[in-house]
Amino acid sequence: MGDLVSIDEALRRVLAAARPLPGEDVETGAASGRVLAERAAATVDLPPFDSSAMDGFALRAADTPGELSVVARIAAGRPAARGLASGEAMGIATGGVVPEGADAVVPIELVTEEEGRLTVPDPVPAGANLRPRGGDVHAGEAVVAAGTLLHPHHLAALLAAGIGSIRVGSRPRVAILATGSELRPAGTPLEAGQIYDANGPMLAAQAARAGAEPARLSSVEDDDAAHREALERGLGHDVLVTSGGVSVGPHDLVRSVGAELGVEEVFWGIAMRPGKPLWFGTRGETLVFGLPGNPVSSFVCFELFVRPALLGLQGHASPGPPFEPGTLSGPVRRNAERDDLVRARRGPDGLAPITGQESHMITRASTADALVLVPRGEGELAAGDTVQFLRI
Ligand code: AMP
Ligand code: MG
Repeated sequence: MGDLVSIDEALRRVLAAARPLPGEDVETGAASGRVLAERAAATVDLPPFDSSAMDGFALRAADTPGELSVVARIAAGRPAARGLASGEAMGIATGGVVPEGADAVVPIELVTEEEGRLTVPDPVPAGANLRPRGGDVHAGEAVVAAGTLLHPHHLAALLAAGIGSIRVGSRPRVAILATGSELRPAGTPLEAGQIYDANGPMLAAQAARAGAEPARLSSVEDDDAAHREALERGLGHDVLVTSGGVSVGPHDLVRSVGAELGVEEVFWGIAMRPGKPLWFGTRGETLVFGLPGNPVSSFVCFELFVRPALLGLQGHASPGPPFEPGTLSGPVRRNAERDDLVRARRGPDGLAPITGQESHMITRASTADALVLVPRGEGELAAGDTVQFLRI
């Protein structure tokens, strides 16, 4: 490991390599969790016509207060057969088309109706309870910007504006490969020296949550031939994520075999704890992340670097990681050489580091809901200090 790169520099290099994949067209209603590839413009004005905001009566403001004759009922979905003349009122439902000639709606609660006569006791201002055509958005205007990760309310906005299908970023195909001769799947007996594979399933789940399509490869032994075969298969995907085998031990084969297979190293070693041995490279268009084997390191490296890359490949405008400001609830010692990502819990008094910060302690880490960035330096941060943190 040569000079360690900073988190920011590593992210810059990762995001520079994560150019958007070609997009695909999907039905808008099925696009939750996808990233919009192109600005989507309204096909109609919204609302498409002047409509009523209330159940009540359409009328002319100038006729109020006064007594009017009720000449029609307008339900949602069908306009009145004719316009409204002075001295007239028309019953109207919420969302009904306000008839030509009317300029206000009075709510049903404010009037009395008897034998076709409507008594309006108070003046109704012009424009009252009207939703003007195009008041939300006009035809041709952008409804959702390109690069937006689509949530259900975006889908509603797109569909309300008549946009039935949209272009979204393709889901990156991500191969997940856990390396280590000691690994066994949970649910099987352990022999001496073996451990259960936590990273393979975890990384696949993280990839799926980042909008990617994970493909789990069978975990491999620390053996050159096995690595060659599995890495080559993984390199057939948009992204290859491995765990383990990127440190400095004689059994750490991911880098050497990766290099043999043509992976060009972008960086190896990062000034961060956990996650120092992180390796990143590319082969053609394929991004290759070699994550350290300790489960907490793997988890943190994924959230900091792989997730932003996966969002970048989908065309996300701000792929993150989305650090936000927060307050420490207690002191935290700083590390002189490396930025720390301290596992913490969010509470009423701020961010409280959990006990058990070693990178193999996945059980402890699983009680955390935040990663607090503690910049390298001397001394400690104090309770009440502002820090940046990432929700997990
Ligand atoms: P390595 O980076 O291969 O040296 O692994 C570092 C530590 O993480 C070792 O204690 C490994 O046993 C452990 N480890 C590696 N891969 C996994 C995995 N998939 N699940 C759980 N622990 C792992
Ligand atoms: Mg290993």
